[in-house]
This record gives sequence, structure tokens and C-alpha cells, in this order.
Amino acid sequence: MRETPNRCDADVAIIGAGPVGLTLALLLARNGCSVLLFERHAKPFAEPRAVGIDDETLRTWQACGVLETIAPYMLAGPAGAVVFTYRDAKGKGFFSLVQNKGSLGHPEGAVFLQPPTEEALRSALVKESNVRFLVGHEVAQLTQTSTETRTEGQTLDGSPFSYTARYLVGCDGARSQVREQAGIAFPGIDCPEAWLILDVFDNEWHEGFTLEQGVEVWCEPCRTTVTVPLPCGYRRWEILLRKDEVGTLVNDDAAIRKRIAQQRPQDNPTIIRRKEIRFSARQAERYRAGRMLIAGDAAHVTPPFAAQGLVSGIRDVANLAWKLIAVLEKRQPDALLDTYDVERRPHQRKMIDLALFLGRVMMPRTHLEALSVRSFLRLIQALPARIKGRFVLRGGHLQPHLKAGCIGPGGGSYFPQNDVLDARGRAVPFDTLLGTGFAVVNFSTLQQEAVFPTSVQTLLSKGTSHLQFGRDFSDPDNAYAAFAGETVLIRPDRIIHTRLATS
Ligand SMILES: Cc1cc2nc3c(=O)[nH]c(=O)nc-3n(C[C@H](O)[C@H](O)[C@H](O)COP(=O)(O)OP(=O)(O)OC[C@H]3O[C@@H](n4cnc5c(N)ncnc54)[C@H](O)[C@@H]3O)c2cc1C
Repeated sequence: MRETPNRCDADVAIIGAGPVGLTLALLLARNGCSVLLFERHAKPFAEPRAVGIDDETLRTWQACGVLETIAPYMLAGPAGAVVFTYRDAKGKGFFSLVQNKGSLGHPEGAVFLQPPTEEALRSALVKESNVRFLVGHEVAQLTQTSTETRTEGQTLDGSPFSYTARYLVGCDGARSQVREQAGIAFPGIDCPEAWLILDVFDNEWHEGFTLEQGVEVWCEPCRTTVTVPLPCGYRRWEILLRKDEVGTLVNDDAAIRKRIAQQRPQDNPTIIRRKEIRFSARQAERYRAGRMLIAGDAAHVTPPFAAQGLVSGIRDVANLAWKLIAVLEKRQPDALLDTYDVERRPHQRKMIDLALFLGRVMMPRTHLEALSVRSFLRLIQALPARIKGRFVLRGGHLQPHLKAGCIGPGGGSYFPQNDVLDARGRAVPFDTLLGTGFAVVNFSTLQQEAVFPTSVQTLLSKGTSHLQFGRDFSDPDNAYAAFAGETVLIRPDRIIHTRLATS
């Protein structure tokens, strides 16, 4: 582990090894940062949680080098396949969405198994020499001075511990101690509806299984049911409970099977995990208090109707990791960390509002409301693909398009990822050439890059990649034609910082 200049135990302490904390630890450690990762549980949560992820998350996990490890626990329909169907009470489909290829080099939407994915992230992490992964460490007390943070608590056998780090990030979930001890309020609402969440194993499962109809939603008044086919023969059911089912259906296997059979009589499921749950929509009033920051569920929780909980947490840490590194390496002042809040909080607010809106669409309370939802969605179904695309739960219109923060002229949106030919003529995804830090890509045939202002130059580390069109890569499919004649500065989270004309 690298020595930290002010004799702290590490550069960054991360509290919580859920998917968000694990991803942050990987992003920091792979770029030379020393990390202490505290987690109270020996194993990942076994409760049914996220099943939907997107191309932004997959691209971040690509940067962490873990895509191959998680591939067995992920499933995505091919471009053009139906991935989402709304059905009426009789089971007739009245609205569907197809998989889009997307622009980030991965399927726009995919389903996955959260617990084994977390296991895979954990096993990738233990190979990183820059990380001390302190499992069985329950954090109780957090303090900070102007130069460091201190984390104190107890191990499972009751031994006290105390460590210092220059910065501390709370990835410790919805009941975050970090958020509470940093004095950050968490306003929002608790939704009144109770849902039964089930993960089942389909006993008829066989190799070669596909996404079939993808996600199916039966949109009946007060009886919404959602099902999601998952990898390895698993299936998720999310059932809106009637008042008389609250607290009872969860423990009644026969009644659960009967309820499932109404929608899919062909299934023969074994119930693996179950939980009755009420969702919340809350967001921290700020994401930073001095040297303490929060990310993932510690900073925001949302109902899962837009599948934007975990994926937003991964966006958080992709945004935060390189900023922490730039400040720790003294390339940038501490004030760069303020742009984390500026860039992430407004976008997350939109995702929460979207989820609340979709909740209203998915949970009609009366026959009249159900009829209105059906009419509304049928109308959208009939619209041209370009407009209908705005109702897809993935893709460009859900991605951040930054207007403020650490960006320059022409910046703020993701740099696309397509296959290009490298200097040896091999087809590779562009990100493999970009590396893990900043990248300057000259798309002009002129060999001289555009010159960035000094304020921008200071962002760049020694490891910045400089790529020249025609020398380091070529673009036979013209996938990057929109950048012709430009020098593009790309941040480590793949957001374009600045576009300048090369000549
Ligand atoms: C039913 C359901 C469906 C969902 N579906 C989706 C979906 O389809 N797509 C999606 O993107 N999201 C979905 N989500 C949300 C998603 O699961 C969460 O957003 C995600 O798991 C949050 O990850 P995290 O790492 O921020 O927090 P967590 O996974 O909660 O991890 C926090 C970690 O911190 C540890 N910890 C907490 N306090 C301490 C302490 N004091 N000391 C040491 N360790 C501590 C905990 O043990 C835990 O391991 C769903 C959630 C639910 C409940």
C-alpha cells in the first residue's frame, strides 16, 4: 500500500462494501490510491434487490476490469428483441419496448443477479494490493479535522479499531451512519404501498435460456404484478399486495404459487428469497460535508420502477473516484470535490421523479385509471420510433448531460464507445485505448493536438492517454464522424470535458 503523505493509514476510507463501495474501491485502487474498505458483514446481502442494470454501469465495470467475471450472472436480449411488455388483466400485451444497441458499447439494458455479482466484485478486489478490505468491521464513530478523517468501531469479536484516512466516503446504504454523523438531512417520502418481492428458481430451466418476453407488467387496478427473467434459471416477481395480503402472503407458499400461476401457469418455481417491502424516495440535501462524502443508497433511495437505484450509485462513484485521485495527487484543489454534488444531485433528482411517475403508471388504483394508462401507452406505441424512444427506460435521455461542473466547451455528455482498429489493425472497443485516466483524442489528420487552457492542463495526470487518428487508431465504420477535425478531452468517467477544433 502506498504511503500517504500526512501519515494517514490510507488515502480514502470507504464505509460499506455493497456494489457501490466495492466499485469505488476498485476504481481508486486501480489508479494507485490506497483504500481502507470497512464492511460489517462477511457475505453480500442475500435479500432480493436489484435485477436491472444499464450500459453506464457495465461500462464502469469494464473500466474496473470485472466484466468477464460478472458475465455468467448477466443476461441481455439482442438489439431488436422485445425486453418489456405491459399486459392488461386478461394478459393481452398492449405496449412493448425493444432492446436498443445504445452508444456506450454495451446493451442499453440487462438483467443480473446482485448477490453473485457482489461476490465477483469482492473477489476482484482482494487481488488489489492497494486495498485493505476489513470485513467484520462495524463502524460506529466518524470524526474529521481539516486534514484527515477518523473511523472507529468494533470487529465481530468485540475488538476496537481506529484508522485515519484523508477522505472518507459513506457507501453504507440507506441507513447511512456517515450521512447521519456528517449531519446531512435525508428528506423525502415513504410510499404507502406494500410489495412482495420474490426470487424464484424455475425448475424447468435449461441451458440456452433467453430473455423471452423480457420484463412483463400486468397492470391491473390495485393488483400490479411484475416479473423479470434472470440468468441461471432465476426469476424475479414483484407483487403489489392488497390490504388483506399485507403481512400474510409473504409466509404462505401455496398462496404465492397460486398467485404466480395466474400469470404464468407453465412455471414450476421454487421460492429462493422473499421480502415484503415498502419503498421510499429520498435524497440527501448535500453529498459532501468537509472530508466526508456519500454515494449510492447512502445519498439517495428510489422505488425500483425505473431501475435507477444501484445504477445511480455506480454513476456517483464513477464521477467521484477520479476527482478524489486528482485532489490526492495535488493536481487539483479540494474544491474539485464540490463538483461531485453539482454534477450528480440534480440528475439523481430527475431519476427519482421518473421512478415516482412510473409508479403511478404501473399502479392504477381504479378501473378508470387502468383504462387511462392503457390508452396513454397505446398512444405512445403508435408514435414514430424516435418519439417512442423517449419512453424507453434506458439510453441517452436518461444519461447525465451536464450543464455545470468540471466541464468545458462542448463537454457534458458521454463519449460514445464503438469498435475501432488499433495501431496493429485489431478491432477493439475504443475504451481499451482510452485507459483508466484522462484521454486526449485528436480526430484530425493534422498531427498537432489542440492546446487546452492551463486550467485544463492541470487536470491531466502523467498517465493521460494521447491518441492520434490514423496513427493510434482508425475508424473504418465512421462511427466517430461527428468528431472529425476535433481534439476531444475525455474524463476518466468517459464524460467529454471539452471539444476543440484541432486546426
Ligand atoms: C426490491 C428491490 C429492487 C431493486 N431493483 C433495482 C434495479 O432493478 N436496478 C437498480 O439499479 N437498483 C435496484 N434496487 C436498488 C439497489 O439494490 C440498491 O440501490 C443498491 O443495492 C445499493 O447499493 P449500495 O452499495 O449503495 O448499498 P448497499 O448494497 O445497501 O450496501 C451498503 C453496505 O454497507 C454496509 N454497512 C452499512 N453500515 C455499516 C457500518 N456501520 N459498518 C460497516 N458496514 C456497514 C452494509 O453491510 C452493506 O454491505 C432495488 C432495490 C430493491 C430493494
